[in-house]
Amino acid sequence: MKTRLIIIAVVVLFGGCKQQSNFSQLELGKMRVGFDVDDTIVFSKFTFEHEKAIDNEGRTDYGWVNQHDGEYSTIIKPIKQLIYFLRDQGHEIYFVTSRPGENGKFLADFLSDSLGFLIRKDIELFFSPKIKDPITGKRFTTKHGIMKKLKLNLYYGDSDTDMIAATIAGIRGVRVVRDPQSIESYSSNYFGDIQMAQQKGGMITPEIYKDFLRAGVGPYGETIYPIFQPE
Ligand SMILES: [Mg+2]
Repeated sequence: MKTRLIIIAVVVLFGGCKQQSNFSQLELGKMRVGFDVDDTIVFSKFTFEHEKAIDNEGRTDYGWVNQHDGEYSTIIKPIKQLIYFLRDQGHEIYFVTSRPGENGKFLADFLSDSLGFLIRKDIELFFSPKIKDPITGKRFTTKHGIMKKLKLNLYYGDSDTDMIAATIAGIRGVRVVRDPQSIESYSSNYFGDIQMAQQKGGMITPEIYKDFLRAGVGPYGETIYPIFQPE
């Protein structure tokens, strides 16, 4: 009788362990959260504007940029706090940037040093440059491919293309409002491009931009993470 009870107890115990180990990440409610890099976790305007960041043909030298964030870029503190908040709850953090990956290890090292946890190229940090459509000549994001591969649940980014990629990947995109210092240097029809938008035929006037920020929603239906508020 005693032996039978022991066997039953062992079966129940191991059965319980097996059931627990079969829980998937989704059943545990553990998220995989992605972040864009430039103007989301890193304020990199001064790295991109450095004279050595531009090659002889006037193009951005990403090999140089990726190597010099440690000298000219800074971490955006409210997003660092958000990352810590999410990590404290046990969620996993990833970074997906549209920068090309040349010398990408240096960017991974900069993020590791600045955030205080290990971030490795192609493991927690992914490079996913835009690709030009051969028919229209327009450049499109490719980040949704990485988002799907990583099975991300949530993605924070500052650009229209971040919201587009999240939508295509079928996950929630959250707009990080870009630092006002960065606004003027971006392309037409960008959500925060309020200074150049009118010259380039953009739709976002300063008034419309403020309305969006006050309402906490962006033009793709995304929610807005409030770092910089309208005056
Ligand atoms: Mg960005």
